[in-house]
Amino acid sequence: MSVPTSAGEAKRLLSEFGLHAKKKYGQNFLTDTGLLDDIVNAAGVEKDDVVLEIGPGLGCLTARLAEAAEKVIAVEIDTSLLPLLQKTLEDYSNIEIINEDVLKLDLGALAAEKAGNRKFKVVANLPYYITTPIIMALLEKELPIESITVMVQLEVAQRLEALPGSKEYGAITLSVAYYTKPEIVLEVPREAFMPSPNVDSAVIKLTVNEEAPVKCKDTALMWKIIRAAFNQRRKTLSNALSGGGICGGDKSVIKEAMEDASLEQSVRGETLSLEDFARLTDSIVKVTKR
Ligand code: SAM
Repeated sequence: MSVPTSAGEAKRLLSEFGLHAKKKYGQNFLTDTGLLDDIVNAAGVEKDDVVLEIGPGLGCLTARLAEAAEKVIAVEIDTSLLPLLQKTLEDYSNIEIINEDVLKLDLGALAAEKAGNRKFKVVANLPYYITTPIIMALLEKELPIESITVMVQLEVAQRLEALPGSKEYGAITLSVAYYTKPEIVLEVPREAFMPSPNVDSAVIKLTVNEEAPVKCKDTALMWKIIRAAFNQRRKTLSNALSGGGICGGDKSVIKEAMEDASLEQSVRGETLSLEDFARLTDSIVKVTKR
């Protein structure tokens, strides 16, 4: 048995196994072979690559990845899909399915075990209810990842590559910019999925930086500052920082650090670039050490 190549075939396959697309797991399946090839090509998957797929579903993307890569590790939470996957992927010997919640897996240990010293590529049509936690887990653990090419809601993709001052710009934009170079590579209409979600989607490729684009004296403090700035994004930066307990909430210290970093007192955090936050962090380190 091979993977379904149309929405009709996908429906028939699910009913053959007594299954249905589960909303709670964000199951919106892709069957269009042209679209699946576009994703694999955008990810730049090559013959000697190890690929981590999150949520193989019916196996359509998994099969394409297995044809392009050396090895595919696919993590699927839904145990009821395993007998189906065993059938649809029976012709491939280079796929390993792991029946786990990806957010509970030790991805560092998995990477070391399955990819050794090599970097791997992440390719997935992500379950939308946990897009952000998955991307943050992949980035913040600083795993040996070369790139992350994922289907997400269009709105989320726009947030990931937003510019300072835009309404889409947020703390996650800065995390993504710190760890990667983001690029929307494909926009995908909702009708391409079975069942169709209520939103359009996009494939975004995050190419992991070899080196962080900014350096500062205390990276952990920089993330605290960024979180505080965006937790109260309608406030001025100085009010948001004191409300968030930065510099012990002392407004005069924050004022001095902002002056040192050449930032206007009336500025809002949502207009600051990653470089601005790094410079502010260094100024805060400097004035609080005095
Ligand atoms: N890759 C398939 C495709 O493109 O048709 C399915 C994509 S579907 C949007 C998301 C998949 O992720 C589903 O198979 C779902 O069961 C799985 N999934 C949802 N939550 C998960 C989790 N926490 N860990 C692993 N897989 C999960």
